[in-house]
Amino acid sequence: MDRRDPAQIYGVLGNPAKHSLSPLMHNAAFQALKINAHYVIFEKKSEELEYFFSSLSRQRIFGLNVTLPYKEKVIAFLDTISKEAKLIGAVNTIKRTPRMLLGLNTDGEGFLRHLNEDLQFEPKDKVIALLGAGGAAKAISVYLGKQGPKKICAYDIDATKLSALEACLKKNFKGINFVQADTIEGLCINECDLLINATPVGMKESDPCIIDGKFMHRGLLVYDLIYNPPETKLLALAKKLGAKTANGLGMLLYQGALSFEYFTGRGAPIEIMRRALNEGVKRL
Ligand code: NAP
Repeated sequence: MDRRDPAQIYGVLGNPAKHSLSPLMHNAAFQALKINAHYVIFEKKSEELEYFFSSLSRQRIFGLNVTLPYKEKVIAFLDTISKEAKLIGAVNTIKRTPRMLLGLNTDGEGFLRHLNEDLQFEPKDKVIALLGAGGAAKAISVYLGKQGPKKICAYDIDATKLSALEACLKKNFKGINFVQADTIEGLCINECDLLINATPVGMKESDPCIIDGKFMHRGLLVYDLIYNPPETKLLALAKKLGAKTANGLGMLLYQGALSFEYFTGRGAPIEIMRRALNEGVKRL
């Protein structure tokens, strides 16, 4: 890109969004690859979205990440969305091309890349327990479903969301072994290879540990999607009992890296983005 051109603008759209770590990792990547672009925060109210989307080209905005509470709502402003985003029913990445606004979802693939590349965990033929059946759980399950797990057993306090997740997976992955648990005990975690916490329980200091230690075992990988705090009570207990643990910072990193690749068409400088995130998370 010619340095004399005005910089391209990218950003994260959400509300609240001001504590987002995305600007740190994307700006570090732009700088490393000498791309003339800036990544900023767009904290918008719901009623501001229509005007915001109509002004993208005037503002030289070429791409967006989308966070809570707009991952579903933005779909109405897009021209087309990817097959995965359609399946998940949510968009976390928007690319503006000369002709259209394209919506994508990199959350599930980001999670899978973290599992595969950093944690050396292959979901194929594995038994997986999933806590939560909301937006993040759906994004993840769609990618886990593609890998051919032996079983996915899920629990959510909201039975309607659990049934919706089951219907989505069974429709799209013929023969998938998906089981709804009525209680946390019903997840049979002692038979599992991977336990994922996709609920917000653990974000607040006052939150309890969502799982009793008696369900954990040394062969288990416990993955908490939460990254702030970096070690939830669940992860601290799992570590104490000898299980392998991971927080959600890796998922954040890889979903961002995939978005960066869609935005720029260039390979993401993963280690530079990781370093920026690790520094940023210390300041939260
Ligand atoms: P969500 O759509 O609200 O889904 C969370 C689900 O968990 C809801 O259905 C909720 O039910 C249920 N739940 C709450 N407490 C529960 C409990 N004690 N037992 C069982 N189920 C319970 O939220 P989300 O967007 O999927 O996010 C979930 C978590 O993932 C959050 O902590 C979020 O920060 C994290 N996340 C991380 C990343 C990353 O990159 N690392 C990306 C996305 C999300 P109710 O609605 O009835 O409360």
